[in-house]
Amino acid sequence: MCLPITDLMATSSHLSPTEEGKATHPDRIDIKRWMRLTAWTFMVSLLIAGMIGWPLIRNFETGRLNVIAAQQQGHLMAAKSLFEREITECFGDLKVLAGSPSLHLFLDTPTPARLERVQQLFLSSAEGYRRYDQIRFLDTEGKETVRVNFNQGKPSVVPSWALQSKADRSYFKQAISLPNGGVYISGITPNIELGIVEIPLKPMIRVATPVFTSSGAKAGVLVLNFLAERLQQGLSKVIMDDAMSVPMVLNETGYWVSHPDSSKIFNDLLAPPSVQRFSDQYPAEWAVMLNKSEGQITTVNGLFFYTLIDPRQLVAIMHADNTSHAEGIPTIRSDEAMYLTFHVPSKTLAVDAVLSKPWHWSMVGLLTLLLFVMSLGGTFMVVFREAQMATAQRFSQLMAKVAQVDELTGIANRRHFRDLAQRELNRVARVHEPLMALMLDIDFFKRINDQHGHKAGDDVLRTFSRVCEAQLRKTDVFGRLGGEEFAVLMPNTALGTAAVVAERLRSAVQSMKVTADGGAEISLTVSIGMAPFKFDKDSLDELLIRADAALYQAKVQGRNRVLAHTELVAIPHGRLSA
Ligand code: GH3
Ligand code: MG
Ligand code: MG
Repeated sequence: MCLPITDLMATSSHLSPTEEGKATHPDRIDIKRWMRLTAWTFMVSLLIAGMIGWPLIRNFETGRLNVIAAQQQGHLMAAKSLFEREITECFGDLKVLAGSPSLHLFLDTPTPARLERVQQLFLSSAEGYRRYDQIRFLDTEGKETVRVNFNQGKPSVVPSWALQSKADRSYFKQAISLPNGGVYISGITPNIELGIVEIPLKPMIRVATPVFTSSGAKAGVLVLNFLAERLQQGLSKVIMDDAMSVPMVLNETGYWVSHPDSSKIFNDLLAPPSVQRFSDQYPAEWAVMLNKSEGQITTVNGLFFYTLIDPRQLVAIMHADNTSHAEGIPTIRSDEAMYLTFHVPSKTLAVDAVLSKPWHWSMVGLLTLLLFVMSLGGTFMVVFREAQMATAQRFSQLMAKVAQVDELTGIANRRHFRDLAQRELNRVARVHEPLMALMLDIDFFKRINDQHGHKAGDDVLRTFSRVCEAQLRKTDVFGRLGGEEFAVLMPNTALGTAAVVAERLRSAVQSMKVTADGGAEISLTVSIGMAPFKFDKDSLDELLIRADAALYQAKVQGRNRVLAHTELVAIPHGRLSA
């Protein structure tokens, strides 16, 4: 199919020199598209980075917490065995002292000399064991009979005048009522002398057993005051340089009985009720601890690792180890069990957590910035490439047009006219449509150039092209063959119709006026030769030669006329233009 002239004109008429310059100029980068692409790419890359990074962080954090948990469990186990060893050793010491011959000799027949031997035994025991603040024997009335005070490493026998009655104290009442071999162990409690709590607080565990004479009569109670601070020191040794962990011991009622911060200990005596107890500060954790004797609790308050130490069970185990089953387990009384606990507060946990430090966030910020810059750069490459492609495409389109368009008039040039014409010829040969070829040549054009200048001649050529186009149909093919020679191919047009159009063309050219630069009006005429297409035996060149021959005849016959080749008949002026 032919390219309609008007279409060609529509594109070609835009190709002024400046527009041509613009067309070859590189396309601008579409900033909005670049920003939009950057935003999307950045968001998607952030999402992907998050999807990869977040599980990694979680994994790292879980690993870190597992290491902490393993470490704390290790502390807990070490501390538990330390406590159990200390307590079982107390029971052992109690048994040894209660069964000592010196004590029994004295109890059977008390004499000052025997009393002194008991005092010496207690004194050397206090010195040797170094873990008892007091070693005492209380008679059946609860009065201290023999008492040795440790005195911070300088043990001394308390003189008889300073001995006190402990008849009303719980440990005495509990122990005196036990059968032979029975053991009583208190919880950790402060030391009370003459009814007053000793300050600074001296936490004690009292271990007591009733002692009987050889005749089997109850003679009194042997009491050891175990220095519970040894347990606290033991805990400090267990955790060594682990600054995360806060080791503590709680009693059954939720009070601290051991804590690195001594102000928390025995808070029932010192602090307002709301902050007295562990169980007040950590009620959820405490509820779990009461339910299960050991475990790990993770809450917003941090990690808690705990185990219950029940002296009753310890004595039972020890007894089972040391005696035959036939003897049976002695009666054990205990005020309370203890909860050995290691607490890693959430604040401490957070110190080394991922994203807890400013530099972690700086890294995240830096990575985000990097992603943004990469998105910006990457998408710039895309839009830059797009702009380059668009420029190249536009340039190649322009080149194609330049190759087809006559630079001066904007209509099809000779080569393009021949291409279009050949296509049209092929088509009409197939469909057997009539087709007419017209050759146009401006009359005495040289004169116009000579009289008005070459530029005016160019103007005439341009105006002439516009005037002709106005007379032609869209389907007609119109081109400049060179100089002031033009050609038209009229598809689906018989000679009669073509003659009418040609005459109209001639007449329109005769009427047109072009004003030269000097103001002179230029008028012109055109000669037109026509030839019909002969199917099967006609080529484009032959057709144009025949039209050209008709044109030549029109020139010969005086110009400003239309001649058809078939008969070489002149078309009378005005006759067919109606
Ligand atoms: P005739 O009536 O016999 O056709 O006479 P003519 O003067 O029109 O014919 P001739 O072939 O002798 O002269 C054509 C002139 O057209 C010669 C040339 O200088 C001029 N010409 C050719 N191309 C252009 C052009 O692009 N611009 C201008 N201004 N003149 C051109
Ligand atoms: Mg000529
Ligand atoms: Mg001419």
